[in-house]
Amino acid sequence: MRERFGAGVTRRMLQPTVNGLFFQDVAGGSAVLPGSLVAFSARGPKAFTLRGGLGSLTSALAATLDVEYDVQVERVERPGSRGGAVTLTTSRGVRNAGAVVITTPAGPSTAMLADPTPDEAAVLRTSYSSVVLVGLALEERLAAGELGGAYGVLVSPESSSPLAALAVHSRADPAAGGEVITVMFGHDAAQRLMSADDETVRAAAVEALAPVLPGLPGRVTDSHIARWPEALPYLHVGLAAAVRRYRERLPVGSAVLLAGDHLGLPWSDAAAFNGRWAADRLIADRAS
Ligand SMILES: Cc1cc2nc3c(=O)[nH]c(=O)nc-3n(C[C@H](O)[C@H](O)[C@H](O)COP(=O)(O)OP(=O)(O)OC[C@H]3O[C@@H](n4cnc5c(N)ncnc54)[C@H](O)[C@@H]3O)c2cc1C
Repeated sequence: MRERFGAGVTRRMLQPTVNGLFFQDVAGGSAVLPGSLVAFSARGPKAFTLRGGLGSLTSALAATLDVEYDVQVERVERPGSRGGAVTLTTSRGVRNAGAVVITTPAGPSTAMLADPTPDEAAVLRTSYSSVVLVGLALEERLAAGELGGAYGVLVSPESSSPLAALAVHSRADPAAGGEVITVMFGHDAAQRLMSADDETVRAAAVEALAPVLPGLPGRVTDSHIARWPEALPYLHVGLAAAVRRYRERLPVGSAVLLAGDHLGLPWSDAAAFNGRWAADRLIADRAS
């Protein structure tokens, strides 16, 4: 990484960005990730959010579909012959389907796929960063000068702070009443806190914020904690070639396809792109 971008840019810009947005060590993945971030930043992006939360996007997409929730898929078995049904063993019994697109993270996908081919195994060899998020609700918004008026703060992995990043809700949505500060622990702290109780995690978040927001404990009115052991997939060197090989050599008429963000860059555009690829591939196979 240092060879490609130089030591100064890597240390001052890329490390805090990759740590703060992806909870990852910049040296652990391909230079394509920081390269894409630099290209994205050059366009002067602005922070936006969806009122009601980002979950409202997936709820809207699912609203016109027949969706079964709270079902854990345990096993996916391909049909014995072309045109047969895929068999899914789930926490609510067996389901059959004409085709299945698996979009779970690499760990569960590997566990459920009964007989992975070498090409599938190659794209599922992905490791993840972990994160613990704490949303701290305040009655009043942060004052204009607090945190320098910024929407977000990226923390250098060289600092002694356990945090990777902070985000200030009212600065993404000026119409918001009150305030929510999202406190994001870095990978190592997240692993330590993953099984800690909520009170311990909340206290750790408030303590970690104290140096930059003095007086915070008395202002917090509520909190919400989210834990992601498999938060964001690493983009390993060689993944793009493995994905290309998988797609090029996938037999026509395959009834099980792999998608999800881990077959590309670790953000929702990649998840949408890969899902679209799988849908297009199924449609094309059916037409042939
Ligand atoms: C803290 C955080 C902040 C982020 N912020 C942004 C952002 O601002 N912008 C952006 O573009 N991206 C962001 N991302 C990344 C984005 O969330 C992911 O890239 C995207 O959600 C990946 O979509 P996906 O469909 O591949 O997988 P996921 O959204 O991870 O969906 C996988 C689903 O599979 C389900 N599942 C797992 N195992 C099983 C099983 N055995 N049976 C049935 N279901 C199972 C899970 O419950 C989950 O619903 C963020 C990620 C994190 C962790």
